[in-house]
Amino acid sequence: MIVDDFRSDTVTRPGESMRAAMAAADVGDAVYDDCPTTKRLEAKTAERLDKEAALFFPTGTQANLAGLMAHCGRGDEYLVGQMAHTYRLEGGGAAVLGSIQPQPLPNEPDGTIALDAIANAIKPKDFHFAVTRLLALENTFNGLVLPDAYLEAATQLARSRGLATHLDGARLMNAAAASNRDAAWIAGQFDTVSLCLSKGLGAPIGSILVGPKDFIEKARRIRKMLGGGMRQTGVIAAAAIHALEHNVARLGEDHRRAADLAKVLARFPALGAGPARTNMVFMTPKALDTSAFAAFLRDRGIAVSGRYGTLRWVTHLDLDDASVERVGTACENFFDSKQ
Ligand SMILES: *Cc1c(COP(=O)(O)O)cnc(C)c1O
Repeated sequence: MIVDDFRSDTVTRPGESMRAAMAAADVGDAVYDDCPTTKRLEAKTAERLDKEAALFFPTGTQANLAGLMAHCGRGDEYLVGQMAHTYRLEGGGAAVLGSIQPQPLPNEPDGTIALDAIANAIKPKDFHFAVTRLLALENTFNGLVLPDAYLEAATQLARSRGLATHLDGARLMNAAAASNRDAAWIAGQFDTVSLCLSKGLGAPIGSILVGPKDFIEKARRIRKMLGGGMRQTGVIAAAAIHALEHNVARLGEDHRRAADLAKVLARFPALGAGPARTNMVFMTPKALDTSAFAAFLRDRGIAVSGRYGTLRWVTHLDLDDASVERVGTACENFFDSKQ
């Protein structure tokens, strides 16, 4: 049984007060635009991020895809980080379902895409080329907060070259909590933004896309086409409202706990753990079988996720300080067992 689940901040379960809000939600058919709770969530999020309109989606993947499709037509191109979620971890949806050509660009170690790489990738107006329409950035990027000055410079560059800008802000609230910027300031650098309510904010389901009114109306048609026109969404929108009202202000606690976890892991140099990045810690050991280590932890009720020899730890509202202490004990036991 998993006691301490560090795999992702998506694993949280709705608590009693969130479930009570869901049970009490006023609902109607959201496809007919008849769901008062969904409308309240959309209005509240648009206001919070200082955008004209918002649209509720089942997943962040669908919110991003609808956003990309509303910005780009068939045969258009979008500039995106080589390691970005929309390019790498969404099944290639932009290309497959949107007929949008991705132009992936290298992500620097700090998560940014170099400005000259962006400038050089924008295609000239020449019939040989796809039409470059959009720059898509991601913040936080694997837990990293993109610097304020970079957000300003990259989006300014895109605008000056006639591109639209989209932010995959699945963890936008973590970025805001870790910087001195309000989420609306970060969102304000971009034309459109997606935000996951089911990540560190604790809602069971749901993401939201914000942007100009005409853009959101376009995205509404695309959402329907993608099968995302859900009906009595008030039940889950109520959870999302609860998440926005109660679980944003506490994100700093997750970041502090990730820093504590990084300190615990650093006691064992063989683990190769890096410093905390908002609510995440990554470790890439040089000479340690990560599968065996993860299996050892799993036997002790601790779950961690991993790919390509790197393990990722994510803190969230269903973990506490005792979870971090148990990780320390399990690591001690692991290395004792090796001697
Ligand atoms: C999780 C995530 C998404 C997609 O969200 P789903 O709800 O899992 O589809 C998009 N972008 C980033 C950066 C994410 O972390």
